[in-house]
Amino acid sequence: MASHANPDGDALGSSAALGALLQALGKDVRLYNSTGRPKFLEWLPLPCPLVTSLDELGDFVPDWAFVLDCGDMARVGEEIAGSSLQLVNIDHHLGNPDFGAVNWVDPSQAAVGCMIAALAREFGVPLTGALGESLYLAIVSDTGQFSYGNTTPDVLALASEIVGSGLDVGEFTARWQNQWTLSRLRLWSLALANVQVYDDGAICVVGITRAMLEAAQATKEDCEGLVETIRRVRGVRMSITLREEVAGQIRISLRSFGDDDAQAVAQHFGGGGHRNASGATFVGTMTEAEAAVVAAASAVLTSMQEPAHG
Ligand code: 5GP
Ligand code: MN
Repeated sequence: MASHANPDGDALGSSAALGALLQALGKDVRLYNSTGRPKFLEWLPLPCPLVTSLDELGDFVPDWAFVLDCGDMARVGEEIAGSSLQLVNIDHHLGNPDFGAVNWVDPSQAAVGCMIAALAREFGVPLTGALGESLYLAIVSDTGQFSYGNTTPDVLALASEIVGSGLDVGEFTARWQNQWTLSRLRLWSLALANVQVYDDGAICVVGITRAMLEAAQATKEDCEGLVETIRRVRGVRMSITLREEVAGQIRISLRSFGDDDAQAVAQHFGGGGHRNASGATFVGTMTEAEAAVVAAASAVLTSMQEPAHG
């Protein structure tokens, strides 16, 4: 069961859920993630060991590798992509190129977790215990805790079913949400001090340099949530964070609302994702990245303003 490097709640939650489901069906399962489990998800009970390389599997020889929440082959990672494993690609990203031997790609799904829940229903496995908890994590992560436009009646019905099956929402949310570090607060104070707005406040940008990360002793995990936070500024239509991964390589995160297409901006830089949440990597300096991404975002937002009918 593989998910993308630096997994988010949907990637790890849906993987853990599918692992639990397959175990319930009598299968022997392992979880794989090249960067392991992020600290903010250490509390999640996993159904089986999580390995960070195929070597760690030892005598365990998988027949299939289920790849979850990976919008393209690059996100799968070299080790899995370059292996001889038969890939089952289960995903909800627009433009997923069907890279698996088996492909189930449904961009209408709010989270991959919703797809795994449908599988569990198909097999008659109840959404109790660790299975329900992993699915709930996947759903709240990708719907912004039921706040994004992808929060459909089906999503709420699924959440209701999980809660009805015994999940304690208060206890879950307390564990899920209270994972901040002091380094995060220090980093955010440095980064937010340099917030920039463009296009009369429609575009909001924050840059996170290596120097800031080092000064705050922060990791990239500590950047999670920043791009959603600056989207909350009144009048902002698209929020952007630029994080210096290494010198000359900038990770772009974009968020928008409604019809405003953040994915189109990411695609301009070879990235992708969803309409309201996307990302890409830019090769160049921070200053170049900011100029290029703001220009692309501005062009996309301007095209959206054109009246649909003459
Ligand atoms: P984030 O900003 O949290 O890194 O990513 C937001 C969304 O964009 C996620 O759904 C993620 O899958 C997608 N995404 C981020 N970076 C990339 C990228 O480089 N390529 C593609 N295709 N999608 C990305
Ligand atoms: Mn997802």
